[in-house]
Amino acid sequence: MNCKNCGAVIRYDPKTYSLICDSCGFSKVLPKPDETSAVEEKDFSSAVDNASRDWQTDLRTVTCKQCGTVTYNDPNQISGICPYCGSTTVLDNSELADSIAPSAVIPFRMSKEEIASKFYKWNKWAFWTPEKFRKGAILDDLKGVYVPYWTFDADSHSSYSGRFGITVTNGDDTSTKWHDGNGGFDLFIDDKIVCGSKRFVSYKKLKNIIVFNKDDLIPYTPEALLGFSAEKYTIGLEESWEIAKQELKKRMLNKACDNESADFYDKNKTQITTEYRNIKYRYILVPMWLSATRYKDKVYNVIASGIDGRGDAQRPISVAKIMIIILLLVGIFLLPVILGLIFQFIVIAYMN
Ligand SMILES: [Zn+2]
Ligand SMILES: [Zn+2]
Repeated sequence: MNCKNCGAVIRYDPKTYSLICDSCGFSKVLPKPDETSAVEEKDFSSAVDNASRDWQTDLRTVTCKQCGTVTYNDPNQISGICPYCGSTTVLDNSELADSIAPSAVIPFRMSKEEIASKFYKWNKWAFWTPEKFRKGAILDDLKGVYVPYWTFDADSHSSYSGRFGITVTNGDDTSTKWHDGNGGFDLFIDDKIVCGSKRFVSYKKLKNIIVFNKDDLIPYTPEALLGFSAEKYTIGLEESWEIAKQELKKRMLNKACDNESADFYDKNKTQITTEYRNIKYRYILVPMWLSATRYKDKVYNVIASGIDGRGDAQRPISVAKIMIIILLLVGIFLLPVILGLIFQFIVIAYMN
């Protein structure tokens, strides 16, 4: 994106929340989440036909040859290293037309420098890891990427029938009293969150790293993309909704349990069916700082939230360092034994 005044490339500064032109001094502050009205939710049932596919800016897609990740990038700011797998990427000129445009974005609040210094402090004590990782050289490659997320709202009605257990305490004895129960209830689903990237499906820690709520969102603006890339979603709207329903099933069973004033339910004997109406969705771009470093044929990732800096770093173990530590420990434990032996020899020699 270029400056309206002078045509130079402008950048986004997370510290001041603004767009800055270093060439002519132009700056513009992005809307803050608390200043904007709630981000509108879109109707799920008509999404496929009616969703906007206009990202309102010129973007190029970059496909990684190695891991297949597709990202959208400002034509001025395409970098050569894939933040997911560390390989060099290849330019692809395919259109964005097949991709729904986001309805909301959470702008970056943490700068690359803030993330790097945070991780550097943490890495400093990781003595077992190779110097390249401990000294934070890998953090030079941190790249800001917007990761796709979906959120859903819906009205729901559930009907259940099954077997429910209540814990009964009688003195020191506890036993379970079972009963059959059936019934129904309504529940409003508010902002059920599903990550739209297949890359994170098996990464359980993600839910502890990426934490946000609707107060963090602003309506999508292409200006927020400045200097960053956006990962193309690999889990689409319909598939995400299926995942959401799977995850909600557990919440529904717990609610049935509450309805029966029970502590647990018999998994094999309890059935629940839920109907959803008025399903609304949002497609959100969520900011993350990522890097991938190849070390002895394996990839080690740094993953951090661009919202508040929570994160995780995978680090290899240096075999040479571990050997030195083991030798030192062995040395420390053996030292008294060796000194004892020397002392004995001296005593024996002296006695003779
Ligand atoms: Zn300018
Ligand atoms: Zn890659």
